[in-house]
Amino acid sequence: MQVSWLEAYKPILIRWDPTAGLTQRTDIDAPKSNRQNKHVLYGGQEGRCGGCRSHFEFRRFEVDHVIPRSRGGTDHIGNLQLLCGHCNRIKGDRPQEYLVARLAEIAG
Ligand SMILES: [Zn+2]
Repeated sequence: MQVSWLEAYKPILIRWDPTAGLTQRTDIDAPKSNRQNKHVLYGGQEGRCGGCRSHFEFRRFEVDHVIPRSRGGTDHIGNLQLLCGHCNRIKGDRPQEYLVARLAEIAG
């Protein structure tokens, strides 16, 4: 049986719900440096890209705003994710849905 790429991807998306972090965590209100954020995100995503889900070394990741700042997204860690350079360039200043759809297209 064949599972579509998006279906396979869905449980991961649900598990890594940036908005869940906003309600569950109370210790992350203090502003953190980008590097600290990056470490927290790296652990939360288990070293996997928030787009293509591939595993990368820490230094290969770029911090991305799930909801772009231009669309009202904040710098809060709940709105941040790590993307590999490839995915970050696809997503650019667009919402996460765009990246997911584009990756699904590419995967066929
Ligand atoms: Zn990626």
